[in-house]
Amino acid sequence: MSELIPMLDLKAQYATLRKEIHAAIDRVMESQHFILGPEVEAFEREVAAYSQSQFGIGVSSGTDALLVALMAINIGPGDEVITSPYSFFATAGSIVRLGARPVFVDIDLDTLNIDVNKIEAKITPRTRAILPDHLAGQTADMGAIMQIAQKHNLYVIEDACQAIGADYQGKRAGSIGHLGCFSFFPSKNLGGAGDSGMVVSNDPALADRVALLRNHGHRPKYYNKAIGGNFRMDALQAAILRAKFPHLENWTAARQKNAALYNELFKNAGLSSDKSPERENKPVILPQEAGWGRHIYHLYQIRIQNRESPRSAAERGKLMSYLKEHQISTEVYYPVALHKQECFAQMDFNEDCPNAEKASQQTLALPIYPELTASNIERIVSAIEDFYNQ
Ligand SMILES: *Cc1c(COP(=O)(O)O)cnc(C)c1O
Repeated sequence: MSELIPMLDLKAQYATLRKEIHAAIDRVMESQHFILGPEVEAFEREVAAYSQSQFGIGVSSGTDALLVALMAINIGPGDEVITSPYSFFATAGSIVRLGARPVFVDIDLDTLNIDVNKIEAKITPRTRAILPDHLAGQTADMGAIMQIAQKHNLYVIEDACQAIGADYQGKRAGSIGHLGCFSFFPSKNLGGAGDSGMVVSNDPALADRVALLRNHGHRPKYYNKAIGGNFRMDALQAAILRAKFPHLENWTAARQKNAALYNELFKNAGLSSDKSPERENKPVILPQEAGWGRHIYHLYQIRIQNRESPRSAAERGKLMSYLKEHQISTEVYYPVALHKQECFAQMDFNEDCPNAEKASQQTLALPIYPELTASNIERIVSAIEDFYNQ
């Protein structure tokens, strides 16, 4: 029996960083300063600088980063926020939690990000903001999004939870819109030992508003200027993340190298092609780089063509089971488009998002983590080749 290839191997990463991480934990334990404080402030400065932002505000999760960013621009009942139907739940969930309505604009099938050509048709007098997601580690078309936002006087909040270090024409993810949101969930490219996140901004007034709302709206303590919440970051998370942060660039480079090897092996095996229309007749469609900036490959998502019906996930399901039998882990991000989620049934979304629905039936994420070896990747591609040859 061959060895299991997991989606992610956090133990391998930890083994190389054990000393630095324990020193960071000790530092916090000795200080007994657990909430916000100097470790959080130092980490805020480091992430802000890395993300070409003047301000960083450490928060409790990526989800809370989105929520507090939307609160900072006063999103509430009656407001509409344009967003992607093909993202993690929190992107839309945070809008609905504030009583506002997400307006889903279909995705571009090549990049799986919001299709900027379809945004303007969805703008109404109630539209307040655009919340694009940078799925898998590649930014949405931020040039077009910022142009539309300026023309219609809208805020832009970037869901950069999967895209730390990605860029659009040299501009880092998170720094382009009014506010940018990061997650340090353990499986993200920079992951902590639990939940945390960050909001970044180049707008002093908005950054100040986020900082106020992060801590109940206290200013000073027990005198409340605004109704905020407890969205604070723990010092332990900040200290551990600071120990890992200097390695992020190397991890990103390893992910990019893995993606390039996958692409090459899939093409050599005849399973996919770069050229259209040939591309569409191959069983596997490779992730597409839009060419406008650095893709940091949080995910490596292929699309599985269904030979019987393009709208069915049957072929993907069979392939996943086959790979599981061969000790290869895969995952689907995401199997249900957001406008189709059960919890939104009473919101009557009748958005027309055929590409998001198609993507939800076709995408398959393969392991891409930095410690994955070339021979692991060879084994994965040849198992997929065997599946199609059986
Ligand atoms: C991970 C993620 C989030 C949420 O982050 P958490 O830290 O898990 O709350 C939000 N949006 C996207 C696109 C994500 O990938």
